[in-house]
Amino acid sequence: TYDYVIVGAGNAGNVIASRLSEDPRTSILVLEAGVRASWRAWFLSWYQHSRPICDQTACPPFGNETEHLLDTPYDWNYTVTPQKGLNGRTFPYNRGKILGGSSSVNYMVHQYGSSEDYDKIAEITGDAGWNWDNVKRNIGKHEKIVPPADGHDTTGQYIPANHGTNGMLSVSLPGSSQLIDSRVIATTRELSEEFPFNEDMGAGISATTYLAAAINRPNVHVLLNAHVTKLLRTGTIQGVPSFRSVEFAGKPGAPSIIVTARREIVLSAGSIGTPQILLLSGIGARDELEALGIPVVVENPSVGKNLSDHVLVPNIFRVKDGESLDALFRDPALFKAALDEWMETKRGVLASSMLNHMGYFRLPSTSSIFSTISDPASGPKASHWELIVTNFYINPKPGHIPPETGSYLGLVSALISPTSRGSVTLASADPFAHPLIDPNYLTTPFDIFAMRETVRAVKRFAAAEAWKDYIIAPFGNFSSDVDADLDAYIRDQASTVYHMVGTASMSPRGAEWGVVDPDLKVKGAEGIRIVDASVLPFPPNAHTQGPV
Ligand code: FAD
Repeated sequence: TYDYVIVGAGNAGNVIASRLSEDPRTSILVLEAGVRASWRAWFLSWYQHSRPICDQTACPPFGNETEHLLDTPYDWNYTVTPQKGLNGRTFPYNRGKILGGSSSVNYMVHQYGSSEDYDKIAEITGDAGWNWDNVKRNIGKHEKIVPPADGHDTTGQYIPANHGTNGMLSVSLPGSSQLIDSRVIATTRELSEEFPFNEDMGAGISATTYLAAAINRPNVHVLLNAHVTKLLRTGTIQGVPSFRSVEFAGKPGAPSIIVTARREIVLSAGSIGTPQILLLSGIGARDELEALGIPVVVENPSVGKNLSDHVLVPNIFRVKDGESLDALFRDPALFKAALDEWMETKRGVLASSMLNHMGYFRLPSTSSIFSTISDPASGPKASHWELIVTNFYINPKPGHIPPETGSYLGLVSALISPTSRGSVTLASADPFAHPLIDPNYLTTPFDIFAMRETVRAVKRFAAAEAWKDYIIAPFGNFSSDVDADLDAYIRDQASTVYHMVGTASMSPRGAEWGVVDPDLKVKGAEGIRIVDASVLPFPPNAHTQGPV
């Protein structure tokens, strides 16, 4: 028996474990299905997304390790269901099964989003505690801005007053510069109307700081290889089912172990794991549970619904040789040299997330779509789409074979305010079986319209003077300006930024929809709180680890 049992040692679970254990009288157990964190997981993640196929001549130099994150025990190896908005395609969906969860395998982009995201959450939930003025106070407590690994002068690259200096999470600007950086900045000057320079939106580096701080406290136990199979009803409190026990097992067929939380169970298993555990525990839609023979304990049709995600298209350009990082990913010897440099000195090209620039933009207010659909952005200053600049070839589409020669620039565009909604549902009552994950990408008129406009905007960005002596031509089928051609390109190429949220959404207390109240307690139940990406009602204007 512990005071708190936390399910999932990921992005959110570790923060909760760390904060709760500051009081030495509070005992905490963290149950994590995955294994110990390894820096290899991060590199494997990058490799997979830049080189979806790794043949024997160009595999990362990680010894006997299999070549892709997806083939390792560090990942859940999920696959999305065939996507009707993407020509029926399906693809792997990474989620870290490891200490740190997905934050241990992600791209290390660190942002919080628009103030309007939080004000909108406050409006949706009817709880002013979620508004930006309140949330931003926690940034000082959360982050500690540190100099970048290469020690470069950061004047004009971020606004110190926006950042914390004493928090648990070290963040920094990218630790290595890239030759194309000045072209990106020049484009923001030249096309300042459409792509204005924004001094501070917080790219940086994250670490496993919270758990590292908490793990040595005697009041915290972290159990690895502990796959939670369900939460058990232990009684009735004030007329609602109460839950205090958590069942887990080391592997399929292994004996189940039950632990009890005196105070609360905290579910932090992420946007896929959390709804799966709720459903396995009998908290969900009656018809879905009964079809699988799972006794209904709390009827709530919202569990697993309202899934939304940032969807992207890669938009790759062929460029002249000399400035891109393609050789690094193509040549195992070069990559090994960079890795050795990083291992020895924590410097060099790998001392950075490799994504040095990104921007958030709005569609023009005169866009024809707004005559039929109201603006889905969080507010008038919030964005509709994101531009991510990659100084190398990137295309996570599975089975896709990266070119063996040439240099490339990625002007990846991602939809930030999607209106399509999908779901996580159980495929079976077996807790070790993967659930059905249906992000339902690009199934609304707004989403395909906006995506098409992002590709057009990217082409305007690439047409700037700053790229004239660099970009040779688009590498992919997006040269045409005809709507149908662009739609075909998008539906053929789109995949994900891995920012799934919303499957256990917050809603106002007493609402007939939603899974948790604004204090994150599960509706219609007692003893369970949810703290992870699943509670966000919609995707924020940011990569999601900061908001989580
Ligand atoms: P997670 O961090 O995924 O944690 C969930 C934890 O629960 C995991 O450790 C998991 O193993 C565990 N768990 C799940 N089910 C069970 C179970 N049944 N029993 C026990 N344990 C369980 N965000 C950014 O901000 N910047 C980026 O650059 C970025 N890039 C990304 C790149 C990739 C490839 C991926 C996959 C994600 C990326 N993200 C990024 C998204 C970000 O990492 C996630 O939004 C964030 O980690 C979600 O936090 P979470 O706590 O909800 O879930």
